[in-house]
Parts: sequence; structure tokens; C-alpha cells
Amino acid sequence: MNSRHIEQLIEGIATSDGAGVKLTRILTGKLQQRLDPFLMLDAFGSNEASDYIGGFPNHPHRGFETVTYMLSGRMRHHDSAGNEGLLENGSVQWMTAGRGVIHSEMPEQEEGVMEGFQLWLNLPSTEKMTNPWYQDFASDKVPQYLTGQGVLVRVIAGSSDGTQGLVTRKTTEPLFLDVHLPAHTNFSAQIPLSHNAFIYVYRGEVWVGETLIPLRRMGILSNTAQHVTLRATSDARLILIAGKPLNEAIVQYGPFVMNTQEEIHQALDDFRNGRFI
Ligand code: FE
Repeated sequence: MNSRHIEQLIEGIATSDGAGVKLTRILTGKLQQRLDPFLMLDAFGSNEASDYIGGFPNHPHRGFETVTYMLSGRMRHHDSAGNEGLLENGSVQWMTAGRGVIHSEMPEQEEGVMEGFQLWLNLPSTEKMTNPWYQDFASDKVPQYLTGQGVLVRVIAGSSDGTQGLVTRKTTEPLFLDVHLPAHTNFSAQIPLSHNAFIYVYRGEVWVGETLIPLRRMGILSNTAQHVTLRATSDARLILIAGKPLNEAIVQYGPFVMNTQEEIHQALDDFRNGRFI
């Protein structure tokens, strides 16, 4: 059977967030419907301290989950639910903002490379006001396996080829893989037909069918098959992300993502009146 193919290539937009952290917003608001249940994907990567040193001082979130995958660097997390964690090379932080957290993510390095991703995963309307939840996972806790061809697959969410990832979610069923393909190998992942899916290449370049996905590009995968086959002619690394769409209204105001304007007004009111703690 044919693989899913690349429906669209996305370059992303250079921007900054927090206290001047330079990043590329790959999944922007325009793609929220197409890539439901995902709301945002940022890639950061720099060896210039001035690009990241400001970090992300205290700010609120409500109504969704954030997943940070740190390839390289050190970031300290603090939040209003009392959680603290250090994100280091290869580690994962999963935070369910639910009804609201205020948190900060600050670099614990003054030089060297800071590189990674932050993904926003929506919550269904029934869970937007759930209690906040937080967990970080050191790199050696991330389940991983090698295929017969020597492809390394790190399973951050969902499961792949029988390897269960760090986190599962009943409603959105997210799949989040970090895939390292040596030259002249391929890799296939199963993805249910209903799930929206994309890849982002962060080393080398990757083929899907007849389409080349160059370095630092996102390829949106067609919803035409239950698997995708990736092929590398030289060493390549990418993240593959898929999830079951919620098909609910998305109303976003900055760090709040709800279903209605009224719920956004409520979020602002709750935040301003100290009801996020
Ligand atoms: Fe945040």
C-alpha cells in the first residue's frame, strides 16, 4: 500500500518569544485546523547566548498541554503548582496546563548550544479545566529501539512497533517520535487514517515518496494511508508527530486556548485576579 505523501512543505517564521528568545515558529495559527489537535510547534537552536539568555520568565497557560524536547542545553522550569525541573540534553518535559499554571523556563547556561522544540497539544473541552500536571523525563528514560536497518527511534508519546512511549493521552492519542536515520535507510511508522501528522527535519534531509523534505522544513503528511515511509540518502534526523483531531472550536488569545470567547475572558479575569495559583 502507498505511504502517506507530503501535502505541503512549511518553512516556518523567524520570531522571538519570552524575553527575546529567538526561535522559528513552524506550526503557526494558520495550521491549527489542518493539524488539529496541535496548536503550535517552535524550534529553537543557537550557539549565541544572546539568542536564548533571556529565557521565558513567568507567564501563564490555560487549556492545553506543552511538550518540550530538549536536544541540547540546560533549562530550569518552575511553576505555580510547585513543580521544578531541569531540562537537559535529550530530556522531555510534559506539562498539562489545564485550568492554569504560571511558569518560567530559564536557561542554566551562559554559553554553548541551546537546541530543541516546544509543541502545544490541545485538550478536549471536557479537560481544559483539569488540574495541572507536570513531569520531566531524563534522556535515559526515553524509550527507544533500533530497527534492523539501524534506525534509532525514540518514543516520546504514543507507541511505535511495540515500544511504548513516555506519555499516552486517551482523547488525542499523540504520537511523538524522534527518528535518526543513517544514510541509505528507511523507516515506516503506523499512523491511524484519522490522525493528522507531520514531520520536521532537523539534521540532513529526508524523502517521502518523490518529495524531498530539506533541512529545517516541516512536511504535512496527507491523510491518505495508515503509514508513512521515510527514506534517507545521507544521515538525517527528524521528529514525527501525529494526533487524533478534536474537531472542536479553537479560540486562542496568546497563552490561553479555549473553545469560546467567554472562556477566554474568564481566563484573563482569573489570571488577573490571581486564580491561577
Ligand atoms: Fe510556557
